Parts: sequence; structure tokens; C-alpha cells
Amino acid sequence: MPQVTLNNGVEMPLLGFGVFQIPPEDTERAVTEALAAGYRSIDTAAAYQNEEAVGRALARSGIPREELFVTTKLWIQDAGEEKAKRALETSLGKLGLDRLDLCLIHQPYGDYYGTWRSLEAGYRQDTVRAIGVSNFHPDRLTDLITHNDVVPAVDQVETHPYFQRIGDEEAMRKRGVRMEAWSPLAQGRHGLLQDPVLTEVAQAHGKSVAQVVLRWLMQREVVAVVKSTKPERMRENLAVFDFELTDGEMTRIAALDGTSGPGFDHRDADSVDFINSMQLT
Ligand code: NDP
Repeated sequence: MPQVTLNNGVEMPLLGFGVFQIPPEDTERAVTEALAAGYRSIDTAAAYQNEEAVGRALARSGIPREELFVTTKLWIQDAGEEKAKRALETSLGKLGLDRLDLCLIHQPYGDYYGTWRSLEAGYRQDTVRAIGVSNFHPDRLTDLITHNDVVPAVDQVETHPYFQRIGDEEAMRKRGVRMEAWSPLAQGRHGLLQDPVLTEVAQAHGKSVAQVVLRWLMQREVVAVVKSTKPERMRENLAVFDFELTDGEMTRIAALDGTSGPGFDHRDADSVDFINSMQLT
């Protein structure tokens, strides 16, 4: 598995396995199968409510800790310096780990400056190897950078061929922040997996559209986390390192940008209200 080097020298697998919307009772099985398929990077979040199941799968796997890359995210209701400190300890406890590889602020809402100071403390104490953000547009990202000490290693955002965020990626790159894709397959929405251009490219390589999409991200060195509950799809999504898209194919895929907007608009007031109202129990 190719790795990328984050801005603090930490190596992160280019492709990982995400567990959003996998029910807690199914997560241990899914992560066990993902690890068996070859994934070593696992992406969870306090809000997914399946950290304990992820932790059980990691412990049962017998895979040495240093071969795993574990990411979690802190939710809005835990925003602020003190609350985030406790939330980080809670996540570590649920995952059964004494150190995280990456911890992200899940949403750019609430007192995330306080949360960031807490993450910086965790980073200095080596409880977290790298810290970052998620769903930050470049304006909020650059302000966070300006007013704090540690530059986020990663900004995990929604991106796929219909919503490419080329400008956002440039802004991140310029500041040393690695873009990480969530919903790289657009959760199968917008007809992405039936797209005629992607289908043609996939056929030319004897691959699936999902594989072409993931390969396109890999060639751009955008880290991605992809989810499936099905072992055969887990393996399919990992088999993207044995072929290469040509420059012409990359250009054709680039032209698909804008076919859809975001699945979730972090700047839409009603969406912000909705997400701020989500309380973890
Ligand atoms: P994805 O783009 O990974 O799509 C997952 C969907 O695609 C599932 O319905 C899955 O179905 C299906 N699928 C997976 N592989 C294939 C395939 N090869 N062919 C056809 N269909 C396929 O969406 P996610 O939203 O899950 O994003 C991935 C990860 O990103 C999450 O699990 C999470 O870790 C992270 N994320 C982070 C967010 C954030 O705010 N930071 C928000 C959303 C996601 P099935 O399971 O039946 O195979």
C-alpha cells in the first residue's frame, strides 16, 4: 500500500477503510474482513458510535499496532478545550488504544478553536501522532492555521469525480495540508457508478468504475477512505495499484467536475442547523 508523508513526517496509507453508517453490531465483522482484505487504515468517528467495535476488531486481528493507522473524529457537542480533552480520552478508551494515528475535528462548528488547542496538547504529549480537520472550507482552514501553532496534517472533505474541489485542494496543498476524500464513490449517488465516461475508461482497463474512481484519486495523491460492508467489494476497492490511468483519461475525468454539487453543503444555513442539532447519546 503506497503511503503519503504528512506535514509532520508521519506516513499515512493512501487508501483506507471507512465505517460511517455501518451499524455497531456489524462493525466488528466489517473491520475484521477489511483488515483481512489488506486495509491497514481505518477511519471512524465518535459520531459513528462504532468505535468500540472497531477497537475489538483491531485487537482481535493480531496485526502489530505499528502496521495500523487509526483515525477518529471529535463531534461538535465535545467542542471546546476541556470537553475535547475528555472526548479524546473517551475515544481512545473505546478504541482500546493508548495512541491515535490521526484525530480530526469532525465539523467546523462550535468552539473548534478550543478543540484545536486540546488536540495540539494531545499531539505534544504524543497521544495523537497527527491532528487535522474535516469539512473545513479553505477560509476557515487558513484562519485556524493563522491563529494556532500546529498546521492541520489533513482536511478530510467530500470529493469525487462529480465534485472535485481542485481549488480547495490547491489552497490546502499551498498550506501543507493533505486533502483526504470522504464518499469517494459519492455513496453510489448521482449515477456516478454508471457514468458513461467512467464506464468506458473502466472497460479499457478491465476494471470497475469504482476502481477507476479510486485510482484517479490515488494518482492525484489524494488520500481516500472508502466504505463497503461486502468483502468482495472491499477487495475490489483495494485492487487499484496494478493499473494506471493515462494523461488523456485523467483529463476526461477532470472534465466531469461540477456534474453534481456537494451531498452535504457545509455553508448552507439549514444544513448547519441540522448538523448542530445532532446530539450523541
Ligand atoms: P463511499 O463513497 O465510500 O460509498 C459507500 C457506498 O458505496 C456504500 O453504499 C457501498 O455499499 C457502496 N460501494 C462500495 N464499494 C462499491 C463498489 N466497488 N461498487 C459499488 N458500490 C460500492 O461513501 P461513504 O460515505 O461511506 O464514505 C467513505 C468513508 O468516508 C466513510 O465510511 C467515513 O469513514 C468517511 N466519511 C467522512 C465524513 C466526514 O464528515 N468526515 C462524511 C462521510 C463519510 P456496500 O456497503 O453495500 O458495499
